Amino acid sequence: MIHRIKGTQDLLPGEIEKWQYLEQKARDIFARYGYMEIRTPIFEETELFVRSIGQETDIVQKEMYTFADKSKKSLTLRPEGTAPVVRACIENNLLAGSGTLKLFYMGPMFRYERPQKGRYRQFYQIGAEVLGPDNPLIDVEVMEMLVRFLEELEIHPYQLHINSIGCPGCRPKYLKVLRAEITHALPQLCADCNRRASTNPLRVLDCKVETDQAHINALPASLDYLCEDCRTHFAVVQRFLNNRDIHYSVNSRLVRGLDYYEKTTFEITSDLLGAQNALLGGGRYNGLSESLGGPAISGFGFALGEERFILALPKEDYFWMRPEVYLAPLGPACFDFAVTLASQLRRNEIRAFLEFGDKSLKSQLRHADKLRIPFALIFGTEELHRKEIQCKNMRDGTQVTIRAEVSEIIRAIRGDTAR
Ligand code: AMP
Repeated sequence: MIHRIKGTQDLLPGEIEKWQYLEQKARDIFARYGYMEIRTPIFEETELFVRSIGQETDIVQKEMYTFADKSKKSLTLRPEGTAPVVRACIENNLLAGSGTLKLFYMGPMFRYERPQKGRYRQFYQIGAEVLGPDNPLIDVEVMEMLVRFLEELEIHPYQLHINSIGCPGCRPKYLKVLRAEITHALPQLCADCNRRASTNPLRVLDCKVETDQAHINALPASLDYLCEDCRTHFAVVQRFLNNRDIHYSVNSRLVRGLDYYEKTTFEITSDLLGAQNALLGGGRYNGLSESLGGPAISGFGFALGEERFILALPKEDYFWMRPEVYLAPLGPACFDFAVTLASQLRRNEIRAFLEFGDKSLKSQLRHADKLRIPFALIFGTEELHRKEIQCKNMRDGTQVTIRAEVSEIIRAIRGDTAR
């Protein structure tokens, strides 16, 4: 018996419908906001992630699935989607000359993290990137889209947190002050903070260790060190969020774990989740394209964790893509008719399931029930001789005799007629 790898999941029928629902809703809403889909490879050159995410980040230091291929090239299973998307835009010349580019992606990401509820080693993200001007209205539009998305999925409560971590112009001044203050507090801080103090001081603000909290809350905030441009940008973001009635809180400790962010960072959390309470996160990354050899173009994006959205979905049954009708022929003599009927129903866009085994009625109905198919069509040679069929409503158990014609069947199961 070979088992799946720790931190991975099999997504089975019964559960997968929630994923399809989530992904379909994302496609619908992103399309409304003008995004188009992009698919990039699951592995990339390791250098892409080291250069963009940052050498000193947890992802690059501890979490990447990196391996040498047969030609000894260092490859990495993608731990996130932004760097590959920007790489693909540069490589395929999507950024030249055109206006704002809006792209979304969905697919598996890989990080060697400690598996727990809502945290996996292979997990799925849906994300979007806006490549274009450094305009705070983009930040607001993305947040508005995500709020709509959550509302249409009926996920609540949720909280939007925003922050600004400054830009390469003003951040060094802040980091200097932060480093000095952290150094004072070092004896009281945990081992991870001690390590990060010199390599990546911003990440100290992200520490979750209980005994560190009072000391970290007393550290200086990046918001107090923003340059004029960053301050205006953040003020516009807040003004437009207010105008749009989008509730948020400013969280000066929201720094995110990837180095490419600057100016706005944001996160949406929900109490519906456990310890891993972040539904999604993102921010602005103005320098990323240039650092990967592309044009000087700004970016803003986010990624959401599908597993966490699935945990937060309100309903249990998302059987919208399941078969609508189960054809239960009573014996091989009825198979000819069954095959023709299934074909006609499918041509009329009805999702029809036909059992091929020579099974008893009882076992066929049990099967239909297990698959949660709402209607079963039952027919033996006698019924067919009379050109009749039994239509059983699997939810309430009622059964009616109808004529064995497609239009009648469609009326019975959908309440309308064949097209
Ligand atoms: P990040 O790419 O780290 O900014 O994360 C964006 C979102 O992806 C988070 O808010 C989570 O919802 C999700 N996420 C990140 N890491 C994991 C993981 N290991 N397992 C499941 N979801 C994750």
